[in-house]
Amino acid sequence: MSEPILYSALLIDGQLVAGEGLAEAIINPASGEVLTSITEASLEQVEAAVQAAHRAFASWSRTTPAQRATALLAIADAIEQNVEQLARLESLNCGKPLHLARQDDISATADVFRFFAGAVRCQQGQLAGEYVPGHTSMVRRDPVGVVASIAPWNYPLMMAAWKIAPALAAGNTLIFKPSEHTPLSILALAPALAKILPPGVLNIICGGGEGVGSQLVGHPRVRMVSLTGDIVTGQKILQSAARTLKRTHLELGGKAPVIVCNDADIEAVVEGIRTHGYYNAGQDCTAACRIYAQAGIHDRLVAELGDAVASISFARKKDSDNQIGPLISARQRDRVASFVERALGQPHIERVTGAAVHSGPGFYYQPTLLAGCKQGDEIVQREVFGPVVTVTRFDQLSQAVDWANDSEYGLASSVWTQNLDKAMQVAARLQYGCTWINTHFMLASEMPHGGLKRSGYGKDLSSDSLQDYSVVRHIMARHGQQLD
Ligand code: NAD
Repeated sequence: MSEPILYSALLIDGQLVAGEGLAEAIINPASGEVLTSITEASLEQVEAAVQAAHRAFASWSRTTPAQRATALLAIADAIEQNVEQLARLESLNCGKPLHLARQDDISATADVFRFFAGAVRCQQGQLAGEYVPGHTSMVRRDPVGVVASIAPWNYPLMMAAWKIAPALAAGNTLIFKPSEHTPLSILALAPALAKILPPGVLNIICGGGEGVGSQLVGHPRVRMVSLTGDIVTGQKILQSAARTLKRTHLELGGKAPVIVCNDADIEAVVEGIRTHGYYNAGQDCTAACRIYAQAGIHDRLVAELGDAVASISFARKKDSDNQIGPLISARQRDRVASFVERALGQPHIERVTGAAVHSGPGFYYQPTLLAGCKQGDEIVQREVFGPVVTVTRFDQLSQAVDWANDSEYGLASSVWTQNLDKAMQVAARLQYGCTWINTHFMLASEMPHGGLKRSGYGKDLSSDSLQDYSVVRHIMARHGQQLD
């Protein structure tokens, strides 16, 4: 995988093939320049990928966990052997600082494959036994079938790993579609994947959501659709999947509340939100973006956090000087700008720092902190998916918990206090897939990630994900002649 730098071949039935559909320009968001053009899959190629996955299912579903684990470990090795190239592509295609892509995205991607290689070999379940006299029952976990996995643009390779690793580990075959904006890193990995996996087990096709994506979702041979994306996309997929009663696994947006109590360690809070509210330019569904600050700490927090946020570095020439990158596209940057503009049109909302498009090339938006926000404000209720954090003042903790839960989202949350008893009680009441205590945003391959409410359902990472990509079956054997 040394040269060329930019790969454009799709992976269908074990073959690297040129796309035969529409051409899509791939942009570097840090400069706005066109990097390359990717020819998407034609409708015939989507059909060929689904049929290949269908054929491959018969043998892949019968492999042992050890055989599948061997393949996943080889994929992890291939990722690590090509860290530099993959990090460079991730950086070029998303605008992320290269050092962060290398240190965070690529190492986490390899770890996900390694985790599932181990997890599939030690799954736990119900005991076999005689639950009806004269009959022995046992439970099997079997793969679902052909899975179509559809990914977003914020962490292209890591999202690919979250979808591909558990699905393959569980014995499914797969058609993976990256975001039309960010196909480069997974296409660069495709030659290695073609060598490691039997033909048809994993197919990678590029294309837009309405064309290639919806053809996949509607295909009768696809038994399950897994999406990480927007709520509206999730709704469309559910409508389409209903026609063929497909299983769905939806990881949708987020608007993470961050409850900061009077007794919180303010330095830790400021550092935590500066890092985890703005990481990846806020294009993260768990971003610490909706702060509720108790009255006794509020003013100091706004002042100190404002200074800290103003010091976040970006758009500098030297890569290692940058802490965040740009937004993925001019459209996304303008969307972020319009949220902030509407917010600042409200007299009670105060700009603490930022709130402007960065002048210069690329799709940068200044890291922004807004204070004085109220629970009903659009900027508090809706996902911005950019480097924008709001602060809302509260007096009673029960009020903050109610406001935190008053959201259509339910993915991630955090509470900051030095009183563990208080933290545990708040954590128990928050209606979110994850609650961090005195931190935010930290993920572990062993722990489930996924939402409640309109943030979707289904878990990524962890052995829970293996369960989502498999079905429980009951096998019951009637005893013959009694032994005694
Ligand atoms: P998006 O929904 O626009 O696109 C996601 C994927 O869905 C893309 O590959 C796209 O081509 C495809 N798609 C779009 N319409 C489709 C259709 N009708 N049929 C089939 N496929 C279709 O989302 P995005 O803009 O790429 O990503 C940002 C969104 O993703 C945000 O809302 C964010 O919160 C969410 N997100 C969630 C998580 C999570 O874990 N919950 C993680 C990352 C991103």
